[in-house]
Amino acid sequence: LHLDQIEALNPTLNAFLHVDADGAMETARSIDAARASGAELGPLAGVPIAVKDNFCTLGQPTTCGSRMLEDWVPPYDATVVTRLRAAGLVILGKTNMDEFAMGSSTETSAFGPTRNPWDTDRIPGGSGGGSSAAVAAFMAPLAVGSDTGGSIRQPGSVTGTVGVKPTYGGVSRYGVVAMASSLDQPGPVTRTTLDAALLHEVMGGHDPHDSTSIAQPLPALSEAARRGDVAGMRVGVVKEFGGEGFEADVEARFHEAVELLRGAGAEVVEVSCPNFLYALSAYYLIMPSELSSNLARFDAMRYGLRVGDDGTRGVEEVMSMTRGEGFGREAKRRLIIGTYALSSGYQDQYYGSAQKVRTLVARDFEAAFAQCDVLVSPTTPTVAFRIGERMSDPMSMYKADLCTIPSNLAGNASASFPVGLSSDGLPVGIQVIAPPMADDRLYRVGGFLE
Ligand code: GLN
Repeated sequence: LHLDQIEALNPTLNAFLHVDADGAMETARSIDAARASGAELGPLAGVPIAVKDNFCTLGQPTTCGSRMLEDWVPPYDATVVTRLRAAGLVILGKTNMDEFAMGSSTETSAFGPTRNPWDTDRIPGGSGGGSSAAVAAFMAPLAVGSDTGGSIRQPGSVTGTVGVKPTYGGVSRYGVVAMASSLDQPGPVTRTTLDAALLHEVMGGHDPHDSTSIAQPLPALSEAARRGDVAGMRVGVVKEFGGEGFEADVEARFHEAVELLRGAGAEVVEVSCPNFLYALSAYYLIMPSELSSNLARFDAMRYGLRVGDDGTRGVEEVMSMTRGEGFGREAKRRLIIGTYALSSGYQDQYYGSAQKVRTLVARDFEAAFAQCDVLVSPTTPTVAFRIGERMSDPMSMYKADLCTIPSNLAGNASASFPVGLSSDGLPVGIQVIAPPMADDRLYRVGGFLE
């Protein structure tokens, strides 16, 4: 059924870059056989799933939306993929994304943009627009994404789906092609809160292959999603996220959701997190710095593309031709910024200052969580914008992650849940943020709002 839906819609939506129909059918049949023979299977066994194309998948291409890795097939599975397979999930294929996860619209993919199923002239968010569009369009019931600055939550918001960025270290990054290692976090993309919790339980938990993985069991997530009550919960509305730059419909749907929480017995207070307003600027120094270091491995020698190696050129020339052709505009822009920010003499001025802001953001969270169990805000200031609208104006593109970035800087758990439609029928999301390793609180709120 899902493969049929992919065949029907993918030519328009371009949500999948690679579909493994044969492999999926084979896995599905083996799960059926296991079930028939009375094997004990987990709750998601046999359920199809789409995987963002920056998760390494043994035997299936992993392009990261880049020419650089166009023909690359990894020799191993990411830990998340290993766990999906072990739980009997059926991997349908790999989903489109902004190049190496840089973007908020899936337009920087080297393989063409993904379209939003709600309105195909609009973007599905990014960088994980392929995963969210696939789930919104019933091409897959579940997907996995990665969130460095909002790439699970912002696409969730603009496609009317659930997107969760777990606590940093809660889900293994092993085998996820690194963008900015101190910010990257894999997480679930689904249509319902309970699905997200069940998937999070399959994906998450300690992994010795990831040195930043937290050696602690996850809280009871699916139980929290099923419970879905918010009575007595202290909910902080982040004062800084509203007003100028926020669409009226986005604010209206957000405030209605907050009133629902209040009506159900949550105690709603306004909190101020003044340093959140500097988070975006700090992110656009920290992320490109880590990015320029991580993407140095694409040097034409080890993996992926190699251009100009005809026996007449030296290593440096081949390297520079390869990187010149292999990376798109946005990747180059960020690599230049990152290299500059880390260059000697400027490190303290740029990277060092950004790290100080990061600490201030974390302190804002600490102060806020002393008064509240969760914080809430709109997920992103606007509904889905039109394809092409922001491509020539990077600053307007970057602002899509205004509200999501603070959680990446501090490592908090954070999610987007759908809260209805704008007056022109486009989805709006609420962002819920919890302290590290309190991911269960996200699911309580999400379970209630459903
Ligand atoms: N839109 C953000 C960026 O362009 C988020 C990226 C992400 O979370 N992978 O950096």
